[in-house]
Amino acid sequence: MNVLIINAGSSSLKYQLFDMESEQIVAKGLAERIGIDGHLKHTPVTNGKPVFEANQPMPTHSEAIAAVLDKLTSAEYGVVSSLTEIGAVGHRVLHGGQKFSKSVLIDDAVIAAVEECIPLGPLHNPANLMGIRACQAAMPGVPQIAVFDTAFHQTMPEFAYTYAIPYKYYEKYNIRRYGFHGTSHRYVSAEAIRLLGNKPNSRVITCHCGNGASIAAVKDGKCVDTSMGLTPLEGVPMGTRSGSIDPAIIEFVANLEGLTRQEVFEVLNKKSGILGVSGVSSDFRDVEAAANDSENPLSHRAQLALDVFRYNVAKYIGSYMVTLGGADAIVFTAGLGENSPELRQSVADWLSGFGVRIDSEKNKLRGKLVDITGEGSTVKVFIIPTNEELVIARDTKAIVEG
Ligand code: ADP
Repeated sequence: MNVLIINAGSSSLKYQLFDMESEQIVAKGLAERIGIDGHLKHTPVTNGKPVFEANQPMPTHSEAIAAVLDKLTSAEYGVVSSLTEIGAVGHRVLHGGQKFSKSVLIDDAVIAAVEECIPLGPLHNPANLMGIRACQAAMPGVPQIAVFDTAFHQTMPEFAYTYAIPYKYYEKYNIRRYGFHGTSHRYVSAEAIRLLGNKPNSRVITCHCGNGASIAAVKDGKCVDTSMGLTPLEGVPMGTRSGSIDPAIIEFVANLEGLTRQEVFEVLNKKSGILGVSGVSSDFRDVEAAANDSENPLSHRAQLALDVFRYNVAKYIGSYMVTLGGADAIVFTAGLGENSPELRQSVADWLSGFGVRIDSEKNKLRGKLVDITGEGSTVKVFIIPTNEELVIARDTKAIVEG
């Protein structure tokens, strides 16, 4: 069976077509600038056909989906001869609120529930719904599956997801910790448990460190705590997000700078984190380069931004050792987690008092699954490349096949 994976954003739509017999990607691409001028890049992966890339009008997600399906089936760039060769579509959906603890077949009730979660995911859920509706219209009768970023974290105990604010806000508005990157935490924690020889009652701490970053505590395969909260703003600092701060800062800055709440919120989401502290960039590669360049006037701030990030990752791991009563494995994943030896070394150094050691030679490896545990370490340390799309494709196939 071929399964199409869709990750729809407000002005973009990423896709991958999987052959589920081999679990290989046969084509992938990105439709961008939807609602602006429209741009499509389509890459056939396995059959040697050429890459297609051009501007083409895409006023809405419907035209974007139409363009994608056209390329997937075209004689020149296609990988299937007709749409009947696509057995199902899996959609990444950001927020499933408290309704979804696993992936589901999309029907009218599911769409209504995703709509109800729009206040919790105001930027992403409407875009995800546009992707779903466009596919339903273009591929009637083809099963559509929703895979939620929040679902894996629904096993958190009440005391971990409850904020210490008046309880009526939870009762009236469902304000609680939800957590994100769930598909990634689920995939890499399952891989870690496999590497641990399927140890019973395993205690795994997963660090998804990309542009967005979150840490999760996973006990016996189930999430028991995670660093992101009601929204992806909470937790460790990120490329442009502040992560956790004293909430009083919001009013303080609003008053001093004459900003509205909305403007302060924008600052915390888009101008903070690594970008805000370093003044260099939100991209960790740029910040690492600036920190290593003593001629750069922002070198100190770049190093400070990295130190703040690394220290906070280590602090969360330490706190999750409390949550789990220790740890059998720590996992690094996503852009930075898979590629930055400096991040992993620094975090291991902070945790040396807990018996964490990494092998400095193996730690130089990037972007592949590897055990970097050092001699005498009481905790295993793994780099595990994440594969959220594969999880979405597997869930989609499993649901379609019942
Ligand atoms: P997202 O999916 O959240 O956009 P990614 O998981 O792709 O993010 O991670 C992007 C981040 O990973 C960027 O900040 C980038 O600088 C960092 N990154 C990617 N490759 C490297 C590398 N070789 N060294 C250091 N950081 C890297």
